Amino acid sequence: MKLDRLIQEFTELVQIDSESGNELAFATDLKTRFEALGFDMVFDDAADYVPSNSGNLYGIRRGDPDKLPVVFSCHLDTVTPGIGIKPQVLEDRITSDGTTILASDDKAPIASLIEAIRSLDESQEEVGTIEVVFSVGEEIGMHGARHFDVSRLTGKNMFVLDSSGTPGRAIIQAPTAANIKATITGKSAHAGLEPENGISAIMVMSEAIANMPLLRIDHETTANVGKISGGNATNIVAEHCQATFEARSLKQDKLDKQVKAMIEALEAASTKYGSMLNYELNTSYPPLLVDQSSGTVQLFKKAAESLGMTPEFTSTGGGSDANIYAEKGLEVLIPSCGMTAAHSVNEYILIEDLSALSRLVREIIKLA
Ligand SMILES: [Zn+2]
Repeated sequence: MKLDRLIQEFTELVQIDSESGNELAFATDLKTRFEALGFDMVFDDAADYVPSNSGNLYGIRRGDPDKLPVVFSCHLDTVTPGIGIKPQVLEDRITSDGTTILASDDKAPIASLIEAIRSLDESQEEVGTIEVVFSVGEEIGMHGARHFDVSRLTGKNMFVLDSSGTPGRAIIQAPTAANIKATITGKSAHAGLEPENGISAIMVMSEAIANMPLLRIDHETTANVGKISGGNATNIVAEHCQATFEARSLKQDKLDKQVKAMIEALEAASTKYGSMLNYELNTSYPPLLVDQSSGTVQLFKKAAESLGMTPEFTSTGGGSDANIYAEKGLEVLIPSCGMTAAHSVNEYILIEDLSALSRLVREIIKLA
């Protein structure tokens, strides 16, 4: 592995703008880079369906059929401000110039992957089939991954290279979440003259919340009422009341059950008082719970240990493409990729971590 070349590659990649929606220039550049490594690269038709000027980019390089085919997934898009990134290579880290993000999320893993493959080729290592999936629109709702047809893949062991943390660690669980925005519409009336003619939306909402299972539901499920507002004045029976809720769980069926209980509490109170209930329900992504006996986890462990790293498995609070691919039946794992303070202008990556990630990816391919 050549560190200078890896740093060079990384700084080149981050200088090709690819904010969500405008990934095409970067994707086209990557296509060329992977073709040079012997991959067959093709765009899918996601651009026709998701908010992006580019499709997802998929590639395969067939190798030793006796080895486990491995799939690496990264996303093409970055958050804002991601235009005109000027990477600064300091002694121990790479930063932006402070006016933009760095885009180590998710270009550090991409550079690491390229260097890993190049280095294996240079040492004429016999490796198995390698597949790559570069998705669009991850940062704005995993649009590309949702659209990607996983039946294209030869392998089912997928490393989603997209997480903070020191290389050697990996994420094996991520919750699913739902948000509810509820509005109760009652009937206003003068609170002193004719309160009996009013329907207090605040009272309806209060009763709904009082009857709702909230906070810690069980060891993998939580729920909360986060905000409440409504009413106008003390002498008016409140016509409107609005509240926002969330629920999270590591299990989809538990989340569904919790959301149902919350909505039923709202409906019951609203029916009792004769008010009107409107709600919006948003489920963001499916949960991720990786089976630790999966081939992907085993391979990761073997590779990390062979490099003297201590593999460590943790959970995260958010979702990524991995949640989507797991739902589609792939055996995913999210290795930590060293990116730090991502989604901010303070984002950086330690050169040591960039290098460790590339060695780890190299080892994963080698030991597959
Ligand atoms: Zn990311």
